[in-house]
Amino acid sequence: ASLPYIVGNWKMNGTRAILSEARAIDRGAARLPKVQVAIAPPATLLHRTREAVELIGVGGQDCHVKESGAFTGDISAAMLKDAGADFTIVGHSERRTLHGESDEVVRAKAEAALAAGLAVILCVGETEAERDAGNAEAVVGSQLEGSCPQADGASDKLTVAYEPVWAIGTGRVPSVDDVAAMHKAIRAKLVAIYGDAGAAVRILYGGSVKADNAGELLSIPDVGGALVGGASLTAESFLAIVGAA
Ligand code: 13P
Repeated sequence: ASLPYIVGNWKMNGTRAILSEARAIDRGAARLPKVQVAIAPPATLLHRTREAVELIGVGGQDCHVKESGAFTGDISAAMLKDAGADFTIVGHSERRTLHGESDEVVRAKAEAALAAGLAVILCVGETEAERDAGNAEAVVGSQLEGSCPQADGASDKLTVAYEPVWAIGTGRVPSVDDVAAMHKAIRAKLVAIYGDAGAAVRILYGGSVKADNAGELLSIPDVGGALVGGASLTAESFLAIVGAA
């Protein structure tokens, strides 16, 4: 089995001063070799982060579907790669909701990232209303069907992150049984989409992961790591999660 993968998504947080946290995360990760660690800083810090760290992965938070062109304010996968990214997140719920990104757009972004030589962390997750209505697995299944990249060998460079929207930034976390059931359902869907290769895709859990719940969440079958927001912004809180993996 692959190493647990702990990824920090810094979202729209951080100016140059936060590079000291990136360096400290990198040094801490060197002492925890049984965990794969990465951070996704804001695009303005991507290149500086790449230069500041030695061991950990560095990635983008989103990319445009096209390689270049008249798309003011957007950033292509090739640009992320050029700035030193190893991967990019696509389909985060904040993109799906606040920027109206459909499954089709998310799939095109994932395919653009793979074509540029980046690995992909594809996010999926249900809203609270969808869970309350008993539709969580159906919603996530349909997001996977609509947004998983289709290119040859796509699953080799794919990580899926299950992030229930209602658990993001709220301090609320689904029960162990609910996480286990969802990750099992995601695994089945990945095998349906990719065949045997789908069995090897890592599935992260994200949403209010902290040092005090990380150990329990990461021991659930088919939870291959965590995508961490708020608690990834300082080396102290992020390394406590890495240490629990
Ligand atoms: P929080 O860890 O702040 O809940 O954010 C989770 C997330 O959205 C990571 O992508």
